[in-house]
Amino acid sequence: MPSQASMVKQTANSERRFVPNSAPVTPAEISPVPTPNGVPEGKLKNDESSKRRRRRKARKRRNSIGKAPRDPRDAVSPPEELESETRSPSPGIDFVGLSKPSIGTVARLEESPEKALERQAKIAGAVRTILECIGEDPNREGLLGTPDRYAKAMLFFTKGYQENIKTIVNDAVFNEGHNEFVIVKDIEVFSLCEHHLVPFTGKMHIGYIPDRDVIGISKLPRIADMFSRRLQVQERLTKDVAHAIMDILKPQGVAVVMESSHLCMVMRGVEKTSATTITSCVLGCVEKREKTRNEFFSLLGLNRR
Ligand SMILES: [Zn+2]
Repeated sequence: MPSQASMVKQTANSERRFVPNSAPVTPAEISPVPTPNGVPEGKLKNDESSKRRRRRKARKRRNSIGKAPRDPRDAVSPPEELESETRSPSPGIDFVGLSKPSIGTVARLEESPEKALERQAKIAGAVRTILECIGEDPNREGLLGTPDRYAKAMLFFTKGYQENIKTIVNDAVFNEGHNEFVIVKDIEVFSLCEHHLVPFTGKMHIGYIPDRDVIGISKLPRIADMFSRRLQVQERLTKDVAHAIMDILKPQGVAVVMESSHLCMVMRGVEKTSATTITSCVLGCVEKREKTRNEFFSLLGLNRR
């Protein structure tokens, strides 16, 4: 699996170690594709000066971005008429409030039950072909229902493509005047590696420093779920979550760390059963201030030697 060496550390479980000073994600690793601002309405601070401040910040984040996304389809290009000056610097949320919609997301959201079944049958057909090609008999009793079961399972594993950050957040943003770290630790994450279509699972830790506004605490795992229930690479998943929180909440800073085990590495390839991959993405004040970053990692217990 290709990895961005500066943000990914692979270590054996027995000596898992995370050195935040050497590991933070640099802005250069953030995907360069700007999308127009599709942040949920109602949650925007409307005064001109904060708009200007955000635009400045956005420009800064955009300009510091150097790399193209690995898959060109990751680049969400907006319809021209919706192009506006206030564009989100991150690929997290797009113009209709959907989070990184894939090809046909809107059509799938609006399709009839018959169309949905047709889509499921198409997947089942492909699974039947796989069964034949690996030397199985799709017509033997034990396998009769497998293509359909797999199709349903696959659609569940990738349901994040149809989820909408607006619905998930659902106005659960409250002005609490809180300005210290809020951290949700050990969020279980199940995702599919986009290179092999096999699972990678692990834990995500999400922290942010509010700018007065806080988000309902249960929303953080739901955001993690929305981005993990699709085909992913761990690096991008970590960034997607961090940027989405940055976009919808406009906190002072965000930090996301994910530790996970990739079945494509465990069951095939190098067959390293105890290897853990750690990725991180820090934004805003967490990115800028070493002290804040250290506070986050020590609250997680990740920089203990
Ligand atoms: Zn893989």
